[in-house]
Amino acid sequence: MLQGTSPSSGPEIWIATGSEASCRPSLRVPPVAATPPASHSGHPGEPRDPGRWPEPRQRSATVAGVGRPRSPRGRARETHERLKLEYPDADCALTHDSPYQLLVATILSAQCTDERVNMVTPALFERCPTPEDLATCDPGELEQLIHSTGFFAAKARNLMAMADRLVGCHDGEVPTSMRDLTALAGVGRKTANVVRSVAFDLPGLPVDTHVGRLSRRIGMTAQTDPVAVERELNPMIPAAERGDFSMRLILHGRQVCGARRADCGGCVCNDFCPSAFAV
Ligand code: SF4
Repeated sequence: MLQGTSPSSGPEIWIATGSEASCRPSLRVPPVAATPPASHSGHPGEPRDPGRWPEPRQRSATVAGVGRPRSPRGRARETHERLKLEYPDADCALTHDSPYQLLVATILSAQCTDERVNMVTPALFERCPTPEDLATCDPGELEQLIHSTGFFAAKARNLMAMADRLVGCHDGEVPTSMRDLTALAGVGRKTANVVRSVAFDLPGLPVDTHVGRLSRRIGMTAQTDPVAVERELNPMIPAAERGDFSMRLILHGRQVCGARRADCGGCVCNDFCPSAFAV
């Protein structure tokens, strides 16, 4: 997904809300019930540039031994700068040509890999090139088209309800505000932030499982709720760079700082990360 949405990104299969009161329901669609570590450089095999960062620490981390910066804001700023160099290309991995296509692909990426979604979407967008086509698609046909992404029945219902609302309330266009986006079926704050930051270049910091885990390990926040993590991180990162920051944390989480195993010896943050060599 987007390199920001993945099977480990956590499900975002939402119950369609009733906040559609001001819109005219144009169609029949009902609301929906829920449903090798790479190198530190991001380029496997590429050696570390010893001139860029301090040599990795080779000891167990202790509070007294953790380097600077030590404030959450300082750690966020330093992490941001270092990951910028580690992962200069923080591009969205979900193939798309429009906000509509990105929105659909991001909804499909819940509990599914970006690669799998990219295999499915060409045929889907050929069959349903517009929200109108998606809203009126035969549910069984849609389920077949997206079957391999998992949770296909719920995703199909969400996609049709989402498209119906786009048609009925937004003239077939993807809205840009967080409020309007999260009123769409299958769209939570994470998906809305992906669409805002990638499709519209607006401030948006998607918090998935990688972003949450790394933010806590690096000491940028102690929050566990994704919305609370987002609210704490937002003021620490320039608005225009929040989407890229999230994407780079996701890349680092996938390639270096995994949930079960962290390659702290090869991590560019290990001189100030309070969790270094303690995971
Ligand atoms: S826990 Fe280890 S791999 Fe993860 S960010 Fe800290 S130093 Fe890097």
